[in-house]
Amino acid sequence: MRLLLLGGTSEARDLAARLVADGIDVTSSLAGRVAEPRLPVGAVRIGGFGGVEGLRAALADYDAVVDATHPFALGMSVNAAAACQLEGVPLLRLERPGWDADPAWHYVDTHEEAAALASTLGARPFLTVGRQELGRFLPALEHHPVLARVVDVPELTLPPAWHLVTSRGPYTRAGELDLMRTHARDVLVTKDSGGTYTWPKMEAAAELGVAVVVVRRPPGPVGPPAVRDVADAVAWVEELL
Ligand code: NAP
Repeated sequence: MRLLLLGGTSEARDLAARLVADGIDVTSSLAGRVAEPRLPVGAVRIGGFGGVEGLRAALADYDAVVDATHPFALGMSVNAAAACQLEGVPLLRLERPGWDADPAWHYVDTHEEAAALASTLGARPFLTVGRQELGRFLPALEHHPVLARVVDVPELTLPPAWHLVTSRGPYTRAGELDLMRTHARDVLVTKDSGGTYTWPKMEAAAELGVAVVVVRRPPGPVGPPAVRDVADAVAWVEELL
């Protein structure tokens, strides 16, 4: 059994560790976006496959695929669903649940909507949406004193009013309280990433009365069976064996 594990998430690293410990031949795949990624145990390949056709060709080396990419990495998930269907390779989607909605949060469907809403809810936004999305906040928030937190410095030239911090989760409640207090934030923008790594900012925002804008997840890929946690993904692989 040669398994291709599409990763870039903590769940993917957990799953790789569990499967490698069980003696399964796992290759984790990373996009290569982050300069110094946290590497899973086992074999790792880095970089895109070259769309659906490239992935179809790569599937010759694998018997099954688990797509454990981030809930917002829709392009990879759609490609995996198409390539696996065309090649007849079993595919499982592992997607962590989103956060339980808090009635105080403001949900939007796009980052542009999040930018527009944030500009009305507060004067000092805190953006935690990832480096790739920052450009979508420029039209609405260019002149706001934005605090943007990213893992790696973006190529985009940021407006003079913006302040960038680079760091990587997991975060703590105390650390998030300190950051939001120090920079006097009044509105937080986040994706509905789910999970525990970035949850403390939501607790800190609630404690400080900071408004919260949550970008909803895109609809997931159509077709593959889906599970929500690593244990169920392990069970799916064992069933295949
Ligand atoms: P995306 O928009 O869905 O993917 C764009 C392209 O990047 C894909 O078509 C594929 O290129 C390549 N790619 C993405 N994930 C890959 C993987 N695991 N292995 C090999 N190639 C991959 O993805 P994204 O939103 O830029 O996210 C990139 C990676 O970062 C994902 O693996 C994801 O799990 C992780 N991540 C994303 C977010 C987020 O908010 N989007 C947050 C945390 C982690 P080809 O078409 O050339 O194959």
